[in-house]
Amino acid sequence: MEIISARWIIPVAIPAIDDGSLVVADGRIVDIGRRPDILNKYQGIAECRYDSVLMPGLVNAHMHLELSHVQDIVRPPADNRFTDWISELLKKRQEATEDRSLVVGAITAALSDQYASGVALVADIGNEFFPELSGERADGWPELLRMLEFLAPNRQALLTAKEKIANLPDCQPICVHAPYSSGPDLLVFAKERCRHLGHLFSVHAAESAAELEFLRSGTGCFRDFLEQRKSWDGTFSFAEQGFEGTIFYFDHLGVLDETTLLVHAVHVSQLEVLLVAERGAHICLCPGSNRFLGVGRAPVEQMLVAGIIPALGTDSPASNSTIDLWHEMQLLAAEHSQVTHESILAMATLGGAQAFRRADDYGSLTPGRMSQILRVSSPALTRCNDMRRIVQELVTGGRPSEISWISTHH
Ligand SMILES: [Zn+2]
Repeated sequence: MEIISARWIIPVAIPAIDDGSLVVADGRIVDIGRRPDILNKYQGIAECRYDSVLMPGLVNAHMHLELSHVQDIVRPPADNRFTDWISELLKKRQEATEDRSLVVGAITAALSDQYASGVALVADIGNEFFPELSGERADGWPELLRMLEFLAPNRQALLTAKEKIANLPDCQPICVHAPYSSGPDLLVFAKERCRHLGHLFSVHAAESAAELEFLRSGTGCFRDFLEQRKSWDGTFSFAEQGFEGTIFYFDHLGVLDETTLLVHAVHVSQLEVLLVAERGAHICLCPGSNRFLGVGRAPVEQMLVAGIIPALGTDSPASNSTIDLWHEMQLLAAEHSQVTHESILAMATLGGAQAFRRADDYGSLTPGRMSQILRVSSPALTRCNDMRRIVQELVTGGRPSEISWISTHH
């Protein structure tokens, strides 16, 4: 057993503690409270004391690690069509993927950087299975949840995807890319598998206005894109009748429940936000990616009012200028002045842990959780003299200059 004390402790799930202590044993937190109370209660137990901030590790709920090497995608101009960016990405990826060691090197560098920045858990989406990333977790890496991504924009692709999925071991989680790149059959098929195996179902949802147009009338750049690729064969059966929005469409398909993670959720109506909350589904916000692609801002205030704590994700360098969860918090705070800094910090920690049903391990410093404790400090944090300012600095100040993990020994 060991006592870890600090000037400021931000447990997230419970109010912050000034001059606090954590008691840890066997890799778990067993108690938390004000330092004088804890020292009194646990007399004779060794104490480590820090003059900095302790908080839970961050959770990056949406990455595409396999795109880590795609570094030279320029931010699209304002009049760009969403599919122009997709075409550019497919081209760049094709060019850059020839050197496999470069791809793997970029992935491992990205993972090391995530851990160094204070990320404890990463959820990753990818079309390719990287044996380099399976097996034992490497030292200096966050825990990695990997989902193999499928898409099926036509009947042939659906057959291929279903066959591949059927041959996967049960332990391999899968996900579907988006409602404009996969028809309803694959969405339902993949969600059924996730349900059956107890896996989370993650899907890009309501990202762009173009997606909304496609859902409503089957027209726009996604239709053109599919037609150009000779991929328009009736797979998107809703194209005739249309849906008011992606969330209504998903609900109609029966894929919206407490183990579904909707990534982006920018173009969602208030009714749809309420429907997400009612179904208990989760949302992952990607403010940096949304800004890069110019798709708009998610109605974060409405989500919070509905009782949803969204998760946060960085997406990949293909749609973000920097892969840094601290930067995502900064952007959210800048774009949503009505949202409290406490809420934003909760999104970067607890929101992601809850979405992946890992809140028993991650997301907060409360009894029962893993004793993986993040210690952060910076000149600006040192100057703060109350908790409100500390949280404000953490959320709006960008990545702190000193970040380390406290290792507990007993
Ligand atoms: Zn994404």
